[in-house]
Amino acid sequence: MPGASWRRLMPVLSKRHALPPLNESLSMFFSASPREALKLYNSLTGKLESLPIGDSVACYTCGPTVYAPAHLGHARNYVLMDIFRRVWESTGARPVFVLNITDVDDKIIAAAAQNSESPVELARRYEEAFWRDLDALNCLRPTIVTRVTEHVESAIIPYIERLVDQNMAYLVPGEGIYFDVRAFDNVMQRLNSRYGKLAPSVQAKDFVLENQRKKSTTGESKKDPRDFALWKFKKPDENFHWASSWGEGRPGWHIECSAMIESVSSALNVPFCVHAGGIDLQFPHHTNEIAQAEAYHMRGHWIEHWLHIGHLHIDGLKMSKSLKNFITIEHLLSDHPSSKISSPADDFRLWCLSTSSYRSPVTYSQERIEQAKQKRFELVRFLIDAEAWLRHSVTERKKWTADDVSLFQFVQTKNAQGRDSLLNDLGGALYVECMLDIAHEGSRYLSECSPERTPHEPLTVAVSTLRAMMSLVGFSDSTTKAGQHTTMNESSSIVGGESALLDELAQFRTTVRSLAMKSMKVDLNNVKQNLSALLQSCDDLRDRTLPSMGIALIDEKVEEEESKVGETVPKLWQFCVPTSNLPQEQNTPFQQPLSSDELKAIPLQDFFKAGQYAGQFADFDETGFPTKNKDGSDVSSRLRKKLSKKLEKHASRLRKI
Ligand SMILES: [Zn+2]
Repeated sequence: MPGASWRRLMPVLSKRHALPPLNESLSMFFSASPREALKLYNSLTGKLESLPIGDSVACYTCGPTVYAPAHLGHARNYVLMDIFRRVWESTGARPVFVLNITDVDDKIIAAAAQNSESPVELARRYEEAFWRDLDALNCLRPTIVTRVTEHVESAIIPYIERLVDQNMAYLVPGEGIYFDVRAFDNVMQRLNSRYGKLAPSVQAKDFVLENQRKKSTTGESKKDPRDFALWKFKKPDENFHWASSWGEGRPGWHIECSAMIESVSSALNVPFCVHAGGIDLQFPHHTNEIAQAEAYHMRGHWIEHWLHIGHLHIDGLKMSKSLKNFITIEHLLSDHPSSKISSPADDFRLWCLSTSSYRSPVTYSQERIEQAKQKRFELVRFLIDAEAWLRHSVTERKKWTADDVSLFQFVQTKNAQGRDSLLNDLGGALYVECMLDIAHEGSRYLSECSPERTPHEPLTVAVSTLRAMMSLVGFSDSTTKAGQHTTMNESSSIVGGESALLDELAQFRTTVRSLAMKSMKVDLNNVKQNLSALLQSCDDLRDRTLPSMGIALIDEKVEEEESKVGETVPKLWQFCVPTSNLPQEQNTPFQQPLSSDELKAIPLQDFFKAGQYAGQFADFDETGFPTKNKDGSDVSSRLRKKLSKKLEKHASRLRKI
């Protein structure tokens, strides 16, 4: 390597142990909780209701209309639906998840015409983008995908035919086939049902209907302003249509979902018990779906449970394609450096979880995502610190102290509390708080307990529980596996080995040094250029080089008086046990310990002010014994004991002179 080389100053990280497997009694702790049902708010009844736990049920979600890139409003929907699915499945349910792709629509036809592209080609292109977004957000893919174009002949046309046969639909010449709301209401009176399930309240409905009446170009031809198109006749300039007994055309929007649900349900012989979508679909889309299905089956009820997810707002307005105030999912996910622990998708997921109910609207801002990122870093930081601690702990059994029992019980309580919150209408905010509580309490425990003297089980349980809680709500490996090594052997646990790491550091130093030397000789503009290259080099080390070796280096904000030069100072977590957990000589590998001659020259009362302890403590008692750590906190009783032993050793050293 030109310009630099490395050598090992002293043995570091020599005591490594693989994380011991949980013993049987601890594994029981994770599997012993009884299966409880997920209680979810039902938009149809306005009540919290339990979802079934057994197999043989299905859930249908209205999927995207694929004509443009998806934005963060869609992303919130996808992520919350994914969390709903994971939580429901965790109760023992194994539902079939069906999602439709709307690939026939006015907007698709208009966008294709603008691009001189066929509507099918355009729809496929954006469908691919949708799958990429879904994967990047770590959302599970549906069990079954239904495309509208693939169901027109087999499912949608026969469905409309039956509605026409049952006098629930009528022909408007030159326009299409319409659903007959008045005819439906007449029949449904006898079956204790009526049009308008899921529709807004009476006043709001009148307002909507009035608006519809004003806007509608077909209002004159329809029998009732609430009637809606089941089949739209082909327009002269359109070339995207199917043959039917009424004439060439294409299905209306609402009919596709009712017909495809019927098709999948009868093919698999599985009833649909949940229907989901964004809150804007409640009326008219879902209201009309219910009317069509009740008319088709001639009964006054259909899918029992309706789940609706609230809007995402930005600057006071709903984020939408039509308002042109959107941020695409691709932009959110590409706008960050990618490293092992950096994960904008997980930051976004944590934000979705921690905002108020999934049913309420939320306001997006970069600042809020940044806050979520900081919270996720707190979780990740604990996992990395704890794994390092556990690698230094010895595996033989040790007696538990009150502190150990207390951590174990705290983790159990928070796990149960978090789970209860999720099962109670997906209470994500409290769930996030419980995960953070475990991380904070675990970090406190880490700072007060030494890996040599403390049993490993309480911390092992804390780490495993936190990982399980993260996995349950769908965080990716960047978060759930933080701190875990990809290779595990005695000689090297760093990906690529310690030699590779030290080579990289030596190379980094060479770059920084040569830029600094260049800056000494040149004018001001070039200094700026060199400085920006230097900062880039610092970022590359943090974001690319170290993460590729399984090492996380995270910049932390510090108080002004601590650092006059920069805004942040780096803290190297992975593979280094936090300073407070180990005797000093083990965690300062780049600081040479004092020689025994140098030690002998230190008077007893200055022992904690010199050598390896210099700068570690803020205050001392009259004998020179530390009372405050350098951050101003009290020296814990455990550390006091440890330091007393060190002092005794030094006293005996001095006595020998
Ligand atoms: Zn739908």
